[in-house]
Amino acid sequence: MPLRGPAIIAAAPSLPVIARTVAALLIAFATLSSVAQGLPDLGDISSATITEQQEKTVGNRIMRDLRADPAYVDDPEVADYITGLGTRLMSAADIPRRDVTYFVVQDDAINAFALVGGHIGMHTGLFTLTQNESELAGVMSHEIAHILQKHQARSIAGASRAQWASLAAMAVAILASKSGSSSSGQMAEAAAATAGALQIQSQLDYTREHEREADRVGLTLLERAGFDPHGMASFFERLMRANRLNEFKGAPSYLRTHPLTTERIADMQDRTPAPILRMARSDNLDYRLMRAKLRAAVGSPTEAVAYFRAELAEKGVVRLREDVYGLAVAQRRARDFDGVLKTLEPLRTGESHPAFERLAAQVLADRGQAEEALEVYRKALKSFPETRALAVGYLELLMDKGRAREVIAEAEERQRKFPEDPRIYELQARAYEATGRPLSQHRAQAEALFRSGNLGAAVQQLDWAVRLKNNDFYEQSSAEARLRELRALLEIERAAEKALKIS
Ligand SMILES: [Zn+2]
Repeated sequence: MPLRGPAIIAAAPSLPVIARTVAALLIAFATLSSVAQGLPDLGDISSATITEQQEKTVGNRIMRDLRADPAYVDDPEVADYITGLGTRLMSAADIPRRDVTYFVVQDDAINAFALVGGHIGMHTGLFTLTQNESELAGVMSHEIAHILQKHQARSIAGASRAQWASLAAMAVAILASKSGSSSSGQMAEAAAATAGALQIQSQLDYTREHEREADRVGLTLLERAGFDPHGMASFFERLMRANRLNEFKGAPSYLRTHPLTTERIADMQDRTPAPILRMARSDNLDYRLMRAKLRAAVGSPTEAVAYFRAELAEKGVVRLREDVYGLAVAQRRARDFDGVLKTLEPLRTGESHPAFERLAAQVLADRGQAEEALEVYRKALKSFPETRALAVGYLELLMDKGRAREVIAEAEERQRKFPEDPRIYELQARAYEATGRPLSQHRAQAEALFRSGNLGAAVQQLDWAVRLKNNDFYEQSSAEARLRELRALLEIERAAEKALKIS
């Protein structure tokens, strides 16, 4: 497939989420500098001043902002897919890190990034540009390698005092824009862009070495996890060629943050085993479906429908499931609900897929057929009990229909399967509120906030919970125990923030 369609290559004109992320990082970096300035030698401050806990605290703070950003892709299907991919690659490491999070950012610019504290973000543009799962896995494994090799911490340690000073000045401008003073908004945007460039500039010496190392480690992960190791080189090569031919409007951000040279690609090719030896996996259907789903979100609804109709017409009799599904997703955007159900029908006969069932249930709910939608969810959950998107969708619909008692009855069972999901706790809290059980409401809300990385607000909820007049001794003491637990965690976080001077 050639690089097609302006939608794929259109760069977001406004300050996208990544620039704001860079801004947040700069604030963290700039404040780290104040720690560094107290030390006589800046040569090796990473181990001396940046503890793992501090790194985590900085990372969590950035993630808290990111999660609230509309560009953060909150879709549980997409989230579970990318987490599954990341976990699989990470498991191939000699010493895997289990605490890394993986997420998707709605942005057409081709980019992926690793944040301090172990968070990996992948732009939706990557899904549409990659041609198979191994290519996407190649980009991901490179980011995982940056984290495994602790490159961010090493970059922080490498910056000079002068660089820190200018970064700190710009961070102030960024903070001003965050506080909402309208006149400084534009200035801060400009500052963020400049600061981003500066930061990258300051790291250039390290970057080349880091990039090579990330390629090497990433390639090993890719191969061990059972992907086609050619995925990495082929994607980077295509990215470079497309950039040279100016097929992108502006250089893709990926090339700006990950300088790519012919040397690097040659290096990758040298390390990739000969084609005859490899056992390439066939592409995962989940990858192709998520790729179609994200593609269906590009452009206007009419354009998206037209794209998949053209795709299906081009391939003639071979109707790929992902193209049919993509069309159905696009039709839902165009509010052609009858069309969606008709398109989905052949996909759902025989062996269905949780994504097809979820879409069918969503569209039935859109049409006001809540009972039918709930029935689709119930059936699908029997066939696919491990699919979080179905469990969340089911509980959400129940709550929307005011069936709080059923939410309470069902939520606990789902929580046992998906203990880290904040949304189920949130729905549970709403259900308790609707049935007049404030203690349980605050407890569930606390768990939801805790799982969204907002420890302070979680403690506040528990504090309210224990102040209520409760007759149930067991409930009361269990809430108190949880409050003590989370308070202890909050103390650790606050100590780290204090050390970084970001509190
Ligand atoms: Zn890189």
